[in-house]
Amino acid sequence: MSGLTAATRDGSGTATIDAEALEAFVTGHRGPCLTAADDGYDDARIIWNGSIDKRPAIIAQCAGAADVIDAVNFARQHDLRVAVRGGGHNVAGNAVCDDGIVIDLSAMNGVRVDVAGRTVRAGGGCLLGDVDRETQAFGLAAPLGIVSLTGIAGLTLCGGLGWLRRKHGMACDALVSVDIVTADGALVTASKDDNADLFWAVRGGGGNFGVVTSFEYRLYPVGPMVTLCAPFYRLGDDAAEIMRRWNDFMATAPEDVSSSCLFWSIPPAPGFPEALHGTPVVITAAVHSGALEDGEALLQPLRELGEPILDLSGQIPYTGVQAAFDPLFAKGERLNYWKSLYLDRIDDAAIDRIVARANDRPNPWALIVIWHLGGAMNRVDPAETALGVRDANYLYSFDTSWTDHADDARAIAWTRDAWAELEDYSNGAVYLNFPGQGEEGETQLRASYGSDNYDRLVEIKTRYDPTNLFRMNQNIVPKAA
Ligand SMILES: Cc1cc2nc3c(=O)[nH]c(=O)nc-3n(C[C@H](O)[C@H](O)[C@H](O)COP(=O)(O)OP(=O)(O)OC[C@H]3O[C@@H](n4cnc5c(N)ncnc54)[C@H](O)[C@@H]3O)c2cc1C
Repeated sequence: MSGLTAATRDGSGTATIDAEALEAFVTGHRGPCLTAADDGYDDARIIWNGSIDKRPAIIAQCAGAADVIDAVNFARQHDLRVAVRGGGHNVAGNAVCDDGIVIDLSAMNGVRVDVAGRTVRAGGGCLLGDVDRETQAFGLAAPLGIVSLTGIAGLTLCGGLGWLRRKHGMACDALVSVDIVTADGALVTASKDDNADLFWAVRGGGGNFGVVTSFEYRLYPVGPMVTLCAPFYRLGDDAAEIMRRWNDFMATAPEDVSSSCLFWSIPPAPGFPEALHGTPVVITAAVHSGALEDGEALLQPLRELGEPILDLSGQIPYTGVQAAFDPLFAKGERLNYWKSLYLDRIDDAAIDRIVARANDRPNPWALIVIWHLGGAMNRVDPAETALGVRDANYLYSFDTSWTDHADDARAIAWTRDAWAELEDYSNGAVYLNFPGQGEEGETQLRASYGSDNYDRLVEIKTRYDPTNLFRMNQNIVPKAA
């Protein structure tokens, strides 16, 4: 085995790893370590967003916590640029880096449910579907996201919004503990009783504090059947009225219901009539996870806001709801830029601006989602977890996708213009799982965490990662030594 040159931690220089050191690391590692010369390297470096094309010097595919500890120590000792990969769904592309080391947890996807204690422990590389599959065997669920192929790690560390958000809160709110390898290579447990500051920080502070090898969540009885509401209305002159009536409905809906209003085009995917492919639509999607017999009647008004051209509503398994979007968000298929803004309120003028943008999308696959928030997720005190925003009533989110690099600048500029248009309805906070490329840096982080939480995050970062080893994230920069 020959040695390697790689990028240094801050990307400004070159690190050299001699053959002996590399061989000792690779042979000690239980999981495979891949370099550009190895079969499987290209598959291993590809992440969900087709816009991202990075070539790491080495991909350390970890089989367990010992591999993670070794990889963190190896990276620190050789001053390497580090990326950490969970599910690889991060749209900003932080799961992979050029010329550095990727600490890849995707094989660490074991799940163990404690049925009596109503908790689940899930490996740091699990996808949502891994956890839902095991917990639903017992009629239980953790509140996660809405696409089952998303990684639990990135999703939970920056919050985690799904169909149970109003009833049971965000994914980070259900955390009971994490096992985490910190920058000094120590594996520690963080919970309300152990390393409480670290536990506070990982509930919203992203991957800044170490590599989480497992997550323990509180579980709630859910399903196994739930009620889905998914009427598709043609995007026409009544779009603003449909959104207004959706908004009125959600103002008094019980917390058993979580809902989003989506502006999109019917995708050319199985299950959607060919004649409708590409038709611009507004979708008033909702999931009722309360008593099954109540769901359909309760959600019926959302199906009568106009004349749907398609309606996928009905009682379906919770795991089916969780996987419903999967085929529409295939890995690597499109180029993506996703950006979001928390909104305090929505009024008629805001709705008119949103609908104007829906009519002006740069291509059919640009998706606008207005996530209705509130309920359990907003009852958490903003100081209780690092995640700062607990009083916004909506998240205005742009999942902008396109297919040709020639359209990169246009698609991104459109998204940023549309995003800035509702700034007067917001305090400037974004949901850090949809942060664009994080271009606004510290300004965006401070607005999103709130100044008190942000200052506390900087303190904790300085204590646990003083040299900023973990910087491929929405980076909280430690104080200078
Ligand atoms: C198709 C799609 C659907 C989505 N749906 C939702 C949704 O419904 N709700 C929602 O809230 N969000 C959603 N998201 C956003 C999603 O939460 C983020 O993209 C999140 O970063 C994905 O986590 P991941 O583990 O797959 O990411 P990765 O790309 O693997 O990593 C994301 C970040 O977390 C860090 N990280 C990863 N694993 C670890 C670990 N084990 N320990 C420490 N740090 C780690 C990485 O370094 C990186 O900074 C969606 C994204 C996509 C692409």
